Amino acid sequence: MPIKVLAPELVSKIAAGEVVERPASVVKELIENSLDAGASQINVEVQGGGIGLIRVADNGAGIPASEAGLAFHRYATSKISNLADLGNIRSLGFRGEALPSIAAVAEVEILTQTSSDTIGSYLHLRNGDIVGKESRSRPQGTTITVRRLFRYLPARLKFLKSANTENSHIAHLVSQYALAFPEVRFSLLLDKHLSFSTTGNGDLRDVVSQIYGVEVAQGMLNLEEKGTLAKVSGLISLPSLSRSNRNYLSFFVNRRWIRSPLLTRATEQAYHGLLMDGKHPIAVINVSLPSEEVDVNVHPAKAQVKFRQEQAVFAGIEKAVKGALSRTPVASTRTVPLTITSWQWESPRMIRDNEPIFITPLPTIRLPVLRALGQLANTYVIAEGPEGLYLIDQHAAHERVLYERILAQWSQKQVEVQGLLQPISCELSPREEGILKASKEILTQFGFAIDLFGNRSYLIRAVPAVLVKANIIEAISMLLDNLASRENPSPWEERIAQSLACHSAIRAGQQLSNDEMRELIKQLEEAQQPRTCPHGRPTMIHLSSHQLEREFGRMG
Ligand code: ADP
Ligand code: MG
Repeated sequence: MPIKVLAPELVSKIAAGEVVERPASVVKELIENSLDAGASQINVEVQGGGIGLIRVADNGAGIPASEAGLAFHRYATSKISNLADLGNIRSLGFRGEALPSIAAVAEVEILTQTSSDTIGSYLHLRNGDIVGKESRSRPQGTTITVRRLFRYLPARLKFLKSANTENSHIAHLVSQYALAFPEVRFSLLLDKHLSFSTTGNGDLRDVVSQIYGVEVAQGMLNLEEKGTLAKVSGLISLPSLSRSNRNYLSFFVNRRWIRSPLLTRATEQAYHGLLMDGKHPIAVINVSLPSEEVDVNVHPAKAQVKFRQEQAVFAGIEKAVKGALSRTPVASTRTVPLTITSWQWESPRMIRDNEPIFITPLPTIRLPVLRALGQLANTYVIAEGPEGLYLIDQHAAHERVLYERILAQWSQKQVEVQGLLQPISCELSPREEGILKASKEILTQFGFAIDLFGNRSYLIRAVPAVLVKANIIEAISMLLDNLASRENPSPWEERIAQSLACHSAIRAGQQLSNDEMRELIKQLEEAQQPRTCPHGRPTMIHLSSHQLEREFGRMG
């Protein structure tokens, strides 16, 4: 094919793809415009995961009637005008790309009025072109309605997840902006149901309470640090309050919501030694920096920034978080040191300390018959078999056994269900609620009965029998996080089985009787894939007879 310049329509669709990745990106751009317009109230309404309808209404400055059409031109913006402005950005938008990009991939209507215009303007755009134009009134502000998103971009439509999953992305996104702007009143209506609303009273703790629940709001510490470079403020969780993933870490730089591995590391480093492995804090952290210290022009979606002095920002966050944690009298270490406390042998044996252990990679084959010899550090079962010594991680091994059993029961529709005499109530975040709705059917198949009780409060009436002894609220929260995770490629039934197995398996540190050890080994021998836990980590270390002989210098 000869080289040729692409038609403008095609160029605009390609460019739009960078800004509008999924329905949540549209919501993000519209909210940012409302905030830039100084709105104190922003109402978001979404139907059908955003494919059906997205509507964002604000009471901001509005667009003058003479400029409304111009707002949909590529690179048309009222926020910067020269190169110097680009180095000193104070607004969330500045690229002049969002409205034209949205209009290129959806049908858009806008109704807007400023305080100085006597009448507002209404525009209807299809395929980027204005197909309707009228003078219409509304109170000062702007309402933008987006319909048929990606209708003519089947490639993109194919990549979208279910409406409920898209809803949950949107709920997460809107809640982040509510956290960043506690003085703005937000409401989010998902499929005509109020997902959440904030009061706009300026109190961050109130917003946290609306989004993560009262209990979380009460377990948060104030963060306040006036560093020389960066001012850090916000709320961070007490070490006793944690989550099993990083979805609850929110960072805002000059009030822009960003994803930043740097700030995540700085925060987690400050919690070092205070949280158990695999646990993460909840945090809402605002960083204010002189605008010339941050480059926000890194990506069309503006979700990343570059710091001029990365090290200093890192140190500033770490210091602020450490400071807040040290000021609390309840800060205490929760890490359980896993030292070797005892060797429990069935018959006395000797082993030399400090010997290097060579780990043989294990093929996925069934286990030979093993004999339990004892327990090490209340965490590992020591066993011997025809092929030498086996050190079995009791939690990982039990997880494997339960995982296979749960999946088998599910596929045979024989899940054991336990009704709760006393239903347990729990409050879900908007994002968790979205995932719960998306996965309701499959969760029911696994034995969960969870009913809406009112405004994101749910009553848990029944759970899979394996969970009865577990912390049910924590298990459900982790389960929903696991279903929401983009990193986990497994199908939903496997993720559910993983979470259930993880929460009901024997813990590390739990003493086992000889009978229990024998039973665990017997069940592991029957497993299809005894060598790895459901997350893919090894369940055991095997020291072959050959290795033992070599280590003891018995080979001549
Ligand atoms: P950018 O935000 O980068 O300037 P957009 O394409 O998002 O580009 O918007 C173009 C322009 O339209 C903005 O610069 C602003 O002047 C105007 N605009 C968009 N949305 C609103 C709104 N909700 N209220 C007031 N003005 C708006
Ligand atoms: Mg914008």
